[in-house]
Amino acid sequence: MIYKRSSALFAEAKKFIPGGVNSPVRAFKSVGGDPIFVEKAKGAYLYDVDGNRLIDYISSWGPLILGHAYEPVIDAVIKKAKLGTSFGMPTEIETELAQLAVSMVPNIDKIRFVNSGTEACMSAIRLARGYTGKDKIIKFAGCYHGHSDSFLIQAGSGAVTFGSPNSPGVTQGTAKDTLLAEYNDLESVMTLIAANKGEIAAVIIEPVAGNMGCIIPSDSFIKGLRKICTEENILLVFDEVMTGFRLSRGGAQETLGIDADIVTFGKVIGGGLPVGAFASRDEIMAHLAPEGPVYQAGTLSGNPLAMSAGLAMLTELNNKPEIFESLAKKTSYLHDGLSSVLSEHGIPNQINRMGSMISVHFTETPVIDFTSSAKGNNEFFRKYFHGMLEQGIYLPPSAFESYFLNDAITYEDLDYTIEALQNTASDLK
Ligand SMILES: *Cc1c(COP(=O)(O)O)cnc(C)c1O
Repeated sequence: MIYKRSSALFAEAKKFIPGGVNSPVRAFKSVGGDPIFVEKAKGAYLYDVDGNRLIDYISSWGPLILGHAYEPVIDAVIKKAKLGTSFGMPTEIETELAQLAVSMVPNIDKIRFVNSGTEACMSAIRLARGYTGKDKIIKFAGCYHGHSDSFLIQAGSGAVTFGSPNSPGVTQGTAKDTLLAEYNDLESVMTLIAANKGEIAAVIIEPVAGNMGCIIPSDSFIKGLRKICTEENILLVFDEVMTGFRLSRGGAQETLGIDADIVTFGKVIGGGLPVGAFASRDEIMAHLAPEGPVYQAGTLSGNPLAMSAGLAMLTELNNKPEIFESLAKKTSYLHDGLSSVLSEHGIPNQINRMGSMISVHFTETPVIDFTSSAKGNNEFFRKYFHGMLEQGIYLPPSAFESYFLNDAITYEDLDYTIEALQNTASDLK
């Protein structure tokens, strides 16, 4: 396939936008080559500026669970736009979306809408701190909770030490309040809690991780985490920006059978428009302004276009819960297909999957945390990514990202994808 115009547009973009993109992973840095500029999309397919058609396994990083340009969502947005795009005043549709979300998700009474997943997680932590009167938080190495300062802290010096910022611009002062644990390692959490007795406001986690590939929590880990948090008066925050309204109607809480104290959302809840949200029980949400003292606000929060897209999307998912089953079956079919091709060619691999989230890791050892995920052979991944792209398959351009299937993908598309791997597998080694 030819990606000439994309390359030209990228060169032009780099003159005016840092790195040519408005979000770093789009730039293809970890796989090399130029990113693809998209013209339009419909269903499972992206159409780029060179006229290529690509099968999309990213779905805008998750939101488009029913495929691109899904009619009920598009119609709702168009209808709403004609009535005005923003008022900075309350609108009825905010309550409609709030009511629907609260009815779908276990264990939440109230929800506050924001404009991104970053904002949702940032606000959730402020609320947790305001509610508990404690400063420190625990996060897990390899989990992503948006780009606000407190979360840009990674591993490096082990789980029991203070985190150090992994971006310039994040102060040591901020970093010292973020403690780092290892995913699927309850011991690492217990050690931190013991060393910071009575100082921890919240543990924040991706209940099924998707930002170091797809990583599934062990049953004992996630149950143990719930138990410790309850015992130690620490709020358990589930970052469901990725898993919410994707793994099931009620998200990871429902799928894993665990109740969180605060839940954050993004991606699917906005149906492809910028929406984030955080939610909790009445007692905790009552601490939020204007009801309580914890401040949080947004000029465009609850924007009518964004709300209408979210409402149309959640209404579909609420009325047709079989979509989750259908997606899981397709993802499982893809898993089996990719796995058998890789095995046939003797390529070491681990494929992790839950629901419609899946990732392929070129490594011999099970991928259960950031360290094991980082062991993946990036040279294999690069060749795999480009080999598939050449055949019109758009995978996440980084080994640390989960794929997000959308329900517009057909079994024909999946067969084509598996065949494409067959064509490229012998070049991987
Ligand atoms: C995408 C993501 C975020 C950040 O959401 P943005 O809308 O990109 O700010 C936070 N947490 C998780 C788990 C995510 O996948």
